[in-house]
Amino acid sequence: MEYNTAEIKKITMDNPIVEIDGDEMTRVLWALVKEQLLLPFVDLKTEYYDLSLENRDATDDQVTHDAAHAILKHKVGVKCATITSNNARKAEYNLKHLHPSPNATIRAILDGTVFRKPVIVQSIQPTVSTWKKPIVIARHAYGDVYKNAELSIPGPGKVELVYTDKDGTEQRIVVADMKGPGVVQGMHNLDDSIASFARACFLYALEEKLDLWFATKDTISKIYDGRFKELFQEIFKKEFKDLFEKAGITYFYTLIDDAVARVVKSDGGFLWACKNYDGDVMSDMIASASGSLAMMTSVLVSPNGVFEYEAAHGTVQQHYYRWKRGEKTSTNPVALIFAWSGALAKRANLDGNSELMQFAQKLETATLRTIEEGDMTGDLAKLANPAPQRVLDSWEFVQAIQKRLKTL
Ligand code: NAP
Ligand code: MG
Repeated sequence: MEYNTAEIKKITMDNPIVEIDGDEMTRVLWALVKEQLLLPFVDLKTEYYDLSLENRDATDDQVTHDAAHAILKHKVGVKCATITSNNARKAEYNLKHLHPSPNATIRAILDGTVFRKPVIVQSIQPTVSTWKKPIVIARHAYGDVYKNAELSIPGPGKVELVYTDKDGTEQRIVVADMKGPGVVQGMHNLDDSIASFARACFLYALEEKLDLWFATKDTISKIYDGRFKELFQEIFKKEFKDLFEKAGITYFYTLIDDAVARVVKSDGGFLWACKNYDGDVMSDMIASASGSLAMMTSVLVSPNGVFEYEAAHGTVQQHYYRWKRGEKTSTNPVALIFAWSGALAKRANLDGNSELMQFAQKLETATLRTIEEGDMTGDLAKLANPAPQRVLDSWEFVQAIQKRLKTL
């Protein structure tokens, strides 16, 4: 192919990335990041899906399903934050009806595990002073309390758990002989889901060369949590022990309370696999203790080798309203930029495209260098030590990254 030498030689791509656009302030930043940091450097090949709330409503959410299936086909996707509709949004956007969370729909189709990793910058010290390297959280995204059945009990009576198999044979156990009013809940998980969670964690640990920690409360919940421990152990022994030894990494199981106590004394640099509820709570703790929600990246890894990258934060609604009134907001695009660099690096890795891989690394380096040299958005300015040189709006910040990217 002939290049005009007066222009920057653009990097070419062999296969597309599935690009999923979204809503509000993140949609504004999405276009900005593409225009300033990607299109001048890469002959970007994407298959585009518009998951704005308007378009999800217009297509009766078909576009969300199409996007998820496109990720299955092309293996790599990158997603902007999207509004999960509720009654307020229904009125605001004049929707035909409410739609399920796009992330839940995509997760169900890809059957994945979500990994969340903070972007670490020297000038933003984590609240936990011993943390030197990022702690990555893997959250099991199926079952437990998120798919529970619960009852309010009005007065004394017996509560039982009953399982009836295909032939009608029953197993039953008394949950409680209630002495008075109260509450009760039942929950479940599936061996298949636990096993694919375990495999996703072992694979991610290998890929990123990170030790893996897993913790439950199996001393109390001997059967339920015990099953998680057992399946992780079995799969590790059969499929991953040798690979871990070769990679020089370890798998470590402990009790959840012991894990929490160790995490705050560790220097970081490991993958922490969490059951659904633990992951929900601990990922917010890690995000806020590491710095800012705007610095948390997220990747959905499915057991069949499919990857979807996104920022962990939402659409930053209040900033969007200010932007619509003509204000230049200081919304932080770092997690969105890292979603793109993650997707480009994965595409490069699958396609053996070393130029694209180098570009993805340069994009991250330029972003981190910009912050470390004192140019940052308002959310980081509050946390930075030394204090920032300049507090920039999103447009100035992206320009500052572009300037550095051109020199790398
Ligand atoms: P949010 O968009 O994450 O924002 C919460 C607050 O965090 C913001 O008001 C802002 O604080 C701060 N923040 C988050 N990202 C930031 C960034 N990039 N730069 C600077 N500050 C940032 O959460 P939300 O307000 O709860 O949700 C808004 C919408 O996003 C909802 O409709 C929800 O459904 C959707 N959502 C989508 C996803 C997803 O698609 N993955 C995830 C979560 C939520 P200040 O106002 O103090 O500056
Ligand atoms: Mg949470």
